[in-house]
Amino acid sequence: MLKANLDHVRKLVDEACERSGRDASEVTIVAVSKTKPEEAIMELYEAGHRDFGENYIQELRKKHDDLPKDIRWHMIGHLQRNKVKYIAEYIHLIHSVDSYALAETIDKEAAKHNRIIPILIEVNVGGEESKFGVTPEETTALVEQISHLPNIRIEGLMTSAPYVEDPEEDRACFANLRDLSVDIDSKKIDNVKVNALSMGMSNDYIVAVEEGSTMVRVGTSIFGARDYSK
Ligand SMILES: *Cc1c(COP(=O)(O)O)cnc(C)c1O
Repeated sequence: MLKANLDHVRKLVDEACERSGRDASEVTIVAVSKTKPEEAIMELYEAGHRDFGENYIQELRKKHDDLPKDIRWHMIGHLQRNKVKYIAEYIHLIHSVDSYALAETIDKEAAKHNRIIPILIEVNVGGEESKFGVTPEETTALVEQISHLPNIRIEGLMTSAPYVEDPEEDRACFANLRDLSVDIDSKKIDNVKVNALSMGMSNDYIVAVEEGSTMVRVGTSIFGARDYSK
């Protein structure tokens, strides 16, 4: 059943790619499994899916300990500096870096494990006060600053668009993030490739793909609604 949901999301992503003249292989579906049981993850794992997104460190640690080691774990939620040490050894991609201080901590923890951790910069494109992320104006300077850290590698940008009834309302937000990434990439900052764009959730991932998303973070449309009361 979850496999059918994932297949449906994949189909809509592929169709959006076709409409916008993109290669469907450019878009990764990150199945957002926060609050969902390990059995649900395993159902998709057994169907061949490997990219899963989590928001809470404690939950991510438990799932990582329990589940197959070839799962690619994406940290998509706000990350506190004192929690980085728990995920530094294995995290596949951190989507939510929004300060130099956090980047420094990731760099330090990555060095302890002799690895380079790939990250995205979280940008608050919509300017909502409730959202994490740097402003578009601050982004280039932060990228330049982080680019000097040896054990961290910037791969792109991430945003969470405002929740709207009509996903068309988020189109400009996604286009702005794409334009910002093209702009930063054109500066040819050493060690920086700003190719990845993590944007689009259950309610707006189709529009996000039409606007250039390379990673959609889809929870509800795959796993069903979340129950936070448990
Ligand atoms: C929970 C979450 C998602 C998934 O949201 P859905 O609407 O369930 O698809 C995506 N991105 C972030 C940052 C999240 O916290």
